[in-house]
Amino acid sequence: MIYDCLIVGAGPSGLSAAVQLARYGHKIALFERRKIGGLLLNANRVENYLGYQDCTGKELVKHFKKNLTTSVIYESVLEIIQEKMGFTLRTDKKNYHGKTVLVATGTEPIKLPDQNVHYDLVGFPLHSKKKTVLILGGGDVGFDYALQLQRRGFKPTIWTHRKTTCLPILKARAKAARIPFKENVTLSTLEDLPFDHILVAIGRVSSKPKIHVQKKAEGLYFAGDVTHPALRQVQIAAAEGLQAALAIHNYLTNAAHPRKRK
Ligand SMILES: Cc1cc2nc3c(=O)[nH]c(=O)nc-3n(C[C@H](O)[C@H](O)[C@H](O)COP(=O)(O)OP(=O)(O)OC[C@H]3O[C@@H](n4cnc5c(N)ncnc54)[C@H](O)[C@@H]3O)c2cc1C
Repeated sequence: MIYDCLIVGAGPSGLSAAVQLARYGHKIALFERRKIGGLLLNANRVENYLGYQDCTGKELVKHFKKNLTTSVIYESVLEIIQEKMGFTLRTDKKNYHGKTVLVATGTEPIKLPDQNVHYDLVGFPLHSKKKTVLILGGGDVGFDYALQLQRRGFKPTIWTHRKTTCLPILKARAKAARIPFKENVTLSTLEDLPFDHILVAIGRVSSKPKIHVQKKAEGLYFAGDVTHPALRQVQIAAAEGLQAALAIHNYLTNAAHPRKRK
């Protein structure tokens, strides 16, 4: 079977594209290696997504899922290969073929050599009675994690190697919640620190499968955080997914009726 579009990643950008391409009636396959919702599942309070005043990332994802009419294929995409006509996508289970591909794979955390640390809250114990957590990183994500963990019963502490860079509102909330944070901390090792858990939030970089294409890869699209890992916002990711869907629809329609091409 040849799909009209193979979408890699079911975060906000991939979901948004899937919703719109399905509305056009295109045959799509949506791949996800972890959970629907992507990075957004980690967000404590989303206050800047229009229409929703104050909800958790998980709640927002629940709303997104209601718009989705496509089922998700839970496979990890390893490679995207350009063919004469379209693309082959190789997952950890099998190969799929499509006329177009949308890469909406988001970001992955910058990692430290230590194995015994967490990088996000998916898979983190749900609740705790006063277990201590050291959060490394003084950006929005570090502070968001701290506030969320405190709500779950943990005792978070934030350390950052320079000045904190988070939104003032998050810093004020952490102060009000009496979450300790220390700036300009230099660590040579993470071993023997007196904390039950260590959570690292020191930045993120683009995450992509291997892509084998010629210089001009017509039919290959990108959307969301993968294209700008430092500018991580749900509304931008969702808008870019929609924008990519419109471009893909245009491409597919022109390919089906080449004489109409400008
Ligand atoms: C703690 C925290 C709080 C946040 N708070 C806010 C906020 O208040 N407001 C806001 O606007 N933004 C917030 N964000 C940012 C927001 O979550 C992201 O900008 C948004 O999720 C990006 O969407 P995306 O679809 O581009 O990527 P992602 O959400 O990263 O989704 C990418 C998806 O692709 C999947 N994937 C990756 N590679 C593969 C592969 N090879 N095969 C199959 N699947 C793959 C991933 O598993 C993931 O599900 C927050 C982020 C964090 C971490």
